[in-house]
Amino acid sequence: MEQPHSASASPEYAALLRAGDRLLVALDFDGTLAPIVENPDVALIHPEAPEVLAGLSAQVRAVAVVTGRPARQVLALGGLDDVGDAIGESGRELVVLGQYGNERWSSNARRVVSPKPPAGLASLIGDLPRLLRRADAAEAWIEEKGLAVAVHTRRMADPRGAFERLLPVLTDAAKTRNLTLEPGRMVIEIRSSGMDKGVALRRLVEEYDAQGVLFVGDDLGDVPAFEAVAALRREGMPTLLVCSGSDEESTLRDLADLVVAGPDGVMEFLRRLTADLARD
Ligand SMILES: [Mg+2]
Repeated sequence: MEQPHSASASPEYAALLRAGDRLLVALDFDGTLAPIVENPDVALIHPEAPEVLAGLSAQVRAVAVVTGRPARQVLALGGLDDVGDAIGESGRELVVLGQYGNERWSSNARRVVSPKPPAGLASLIGDLPRLLRRADAAEAWIEEKGLAVAVHTRRMADPRGAFERLLPVLTDAAKTRNLTLEPGRMVIEIRSSGMDKGVALRRLVEEYDAQGVLFVGDDLGDVPAFEAVAALRREGMPTLLVCSGSDEESTLRDLADLVVAGPDGVMEFLRRLTADLARD
């Protein structure tokens, strides 16, 4: 695994520093800003994150949290209202994109803007008990998220086996309803098509006229964002892709410029970046 200190030597990191206050920093929440825990209802943000995000935001154009969770959930788990206050004081903005970019909250607007649930979602939710039984996974936990539904196997006796059995069954059920399926860490989420973290990130870059992008993620749902950032790099934009490493997920490691050790490593990296930006 690459160690955080080696990042400061990379040309990507140096280019990012030169982007300075035109830099957009976007971060996933679970596994990146908050440790993964058994019960996702209590996945609180890393205790250092509020201070780290406020400090970083003073050096960059905008800080965004881009998550699969509903925006309101992540606002509460992250104490992001208060973080937004601190960031607002420095004249910058904190943005929270919930449900993969379908919902939007900002520290200036202070309300969650959200579209209607996608057609087909209600019918799929109604069919879920039958589909779960068919995959021999009746004990999976169904989380209704408004614009999406998530099926969690983490708390089952055989989480990986149940996940593997559910994946083809739910893929079919999503496809026939024109919905998108997103596999995650022991969770399968079904939601509207046409939006993902990559599309969301591209919009943020345009909106803030960003001239550099840092994205930090940990999970399969972050792959579209990694791909969008890689495309921006090919277009000549300074970018850096950081993977918040865990034992469970390896896809992102191969795509990342830098792998850090979970949320602790993310905090350390962001502190270093903030200091380096302030110096330049
Ligand atoms: Mg995550």
